[in-house]
Amino acid sequence: MKPIEYFKLANDFFLLKKDRPYILGLMITDLCNLNCKHCRVANIYKRHMSYSEIEKHLRTYYSRGARLLYLEGGEPYLWQDNHYHLEDIIQLAKIIGYLRIHVYTNGTFPLAAHPHFTWVSMDGLAETYRTIRGIPIERVLSNIFKADHQRLGLIYTVNTINSGEIRKFLNFVHFEFPRLKVMFFFHTPYYGVDSLLLSENEKNEVIRMIINCKEEGLPVLNSEAGLQAIASGLYNRPMKISWVVDQTGEYPCCRSYDHPEVCKHCGYSSGVEIALLRSIRLNPIKEMVEWF
Ligand code: SF4
Repeated sequence: MKPIEYFKLANDFFLLKKDRPYILGLMITDLCNLNCKHCRVANIYKRHMSYSEIEKHLRTYYSRGARLLYLEGGEPYLWQDNHYHLEDIIQLAKIIGYLRIHVYTNGTFPLAAHPHFTWVSMDGLAETYRTIRGIPIERVLSNIFKADHQRLGLIYTVNTINSGEIRKFLNFVHFEFPRLKVMFFFHTPYYGVDSLLLSENEKNEVIRMIINCKEEGLPVLNSEAGLQAIASGLYNRPMKISWVVDQTGEYPCCRSYDHPEVCKHCGYSSGVEIALLRSIRLNPIKEMVEWF
């Protein structure tokens, strides 16, 4: 813990409301071992970022103010550059001074690295999972069972395939992985409206159901305020407090920053929680601080 650094971060973010990068989302590779129905950004360049490029981005964004790092892909566990592996990036980022490092993975590789937090994408059970991700779910479940040293959360991106399985999924997680909670994202039409996008009515119905599940004690991580903001669409976005860097360039918020028609349907719930944090809504603050 570095209390002064946390204090400076909170002061700039909450009180001064400075628009500087706080979060760096670094896409360290576009290689992925899966071919998921909703994803069109993997395996285009089929290239890892080099260790030296990664170090340059980490240092540049640290000097611009970023203190939280999200390592993403492709699949980050596939990344390597000669003898360097994912763990080496995490250790480098800790040395540079990043306060929290999160890894976003599909969970198909043993969760052996040591970030502060790991998000595993899992958007359904058995057949639903296989329909979306093209593989059986068992390997991912086994890797989660074995990762008892890790702080983990699950990301369930709601779409027209899996929207009917949410309660069943939450019950499964509640009984099989009592330490875990689920963050619900919503399918975002990054590449234009497609068959996975829920209608506004469908989305609002699903959100009501997720809120009910949360009130019943099922492991929903989204705050109720965050879910309601997604339903109403009334929150500030896009934001320039997090930046995404990949092999094509650097983007505030996400690669769709200049596409208001996409932002209108944004389902990136973490962004909503951050937007509410900034407006000092106590509900999400309390939940996020307790969890991380
Ligand atoms: S609000 Fe941000 S994360 Fe959502 S689609 Fe727009 S640019 Fe991307």
